[in-house]
Amino acid sequence: MSGADAGIVIVGGGQAGSRAAEALRLAEFRGSITLIGDEMHLPYERPQLSKELLLKEGAEPAYIRSREQWQELDVDVMTGVRVAGCDLEKRVLGFEDGRERRFAKLLIATGTRARRLPAIERGPIPIFYLRSVDDAVRLRASLREGARVALIGGGAIGLEVAAAAVERGCSVTVIEAASQVLAQIGSRVISEYFLKLHRDLGVTILAGVTAQRVAPEGLVLSDGSVCRADLALVGIGVEPATDGFIGSGISTPHGIRVDRRGATECEGVYAAGDVAVQWNRCADRWMRVENWANAQNQAIAAARSMLGQGEGYDSVPWFWSDQYKANLQVVGSLSNVTEIVRGDSAGGRFSVLGLRDGEIVGAATVNAPKDMAILRRAVAARVRVNRGDLENAEFDLKRLISK
Ligand code: NAP
Repeated sequence: MSGADAGIVIVGGGQAGSRAAEALRLAEFRGSITLIGDEMHLPYERPQLSKELLLKEGAEPAYIRSREQWQELDVDVMTGVRVAGCDLEKRVLGFEDGRERRFAKLLIATGTRARRLPAIERGPIPIFYLRSVDDAVRLRASLREGARVALIGGGAIGLEVAAAAVERGCSVTVIEAASQVLAQIGSRVISEYFLKLHRDLGVTILAGVTAQRVAPEGLVLSDGSVCRADLALVGIGVEPATDGFIGSGISTPHGIRVDRRGATECEGVYAAGDVAVQWNRCADRWMRVENWANAQNQAIAAARSMLGQGEGYDSVPWFWSDQYKANLQVVGSLSNVTEIVRGDSAGGRFSVLGLRDGEIVGAATVNAPKDMAILRRAVAARVRVNRGDLENAEFDLKRLISK
């Protein structure tokens, strides 16, 4: 098959890869599309993994499309196939099983994988990670009533699993290296709120410590104490899944660098989703944005760029997390800002606005989705605002975007 006949190949069968394939067809691309994933499952949504899938016995993954729907779209979905290497000049991918696949254009949407903690992997306590449906189903089977569950990492994974484990009647301890939970969000107010929420529901949160090793009685922590546990889940962040592209010239230890069109330095080769490193104007640095909205929207934009369409992607990061009955949403950046709280944090319904140099650069809401709808627009526009107005409870947030 010649390169020109080889069509578009998408490596990575997750949210980004799937939405890119759909977007290519929506934009009237009529050539062949191959979507390659290394899991045995058809592409599915990941947010459910740390929520519904853990809570409901027998819950099925939220598949993006059925096999028949992929066929209707004329997308060839290959599951259980791992890319082992690539030659970007010859436009060919090599699979782990020795087969090869040529491409005319390539989209890399391989995402990330969980950072491992080898020091505790060999010991008497079962250690879990949570990145795939198979991981979630295995973990669910162990979240039995009365089980002592240690969650290493107090980020989104750790706290969402904490909520699910509490709901399943487990006894839960979170072990967090930083001094706060949800430290990545950068908001003292949000971290303190979620710390209290979990503690009030019986979760033990140990901050400023790490798990060093496993002893028969439990996890030995960096302060010398022991956390007794029947199982542990490690949620200490992710790293880019670039294995198949190392040495190709476009892969860096931080991911695959792209411009706002999703294009790499190699003509015809694009990247999107968790694996892509793009300049982020909110944070003023090159970074990977690891969330559902980015996987979806950056991938759609990259697909359109592959066809010479669209204006590129420059969206403000936005994500949500559901823990118990609290819906947290975060937009933009809350690092190095002055935080202004509006609403009733004791009552569990409030918003945090982040001001830097007189502009709104980030916001978080807890159970206040209407505020978030406004704040997403305000942060995207970096609206200039008077601090006194925001501190006035009577000030209508809609005024931020009505100018
Ligand atoms: P994360 O959000 O980066 O949080 C990991 C936390 O673990 C950090 O606070 C980190 O502290 C801490 N940590 C690192 N090493 C540790 C150690 N040895 N012992 C104890 N704590 C340690 O990562 P995650 O929770 O694993 O989530 C993985 C990815 O999935 C992230 O990209 C996340 O955004 C995504 N995710 C998103 C959602 C959502 O959007 N709702 C839900 C689940 C997962 P330091 O920062 O100090 O290292």
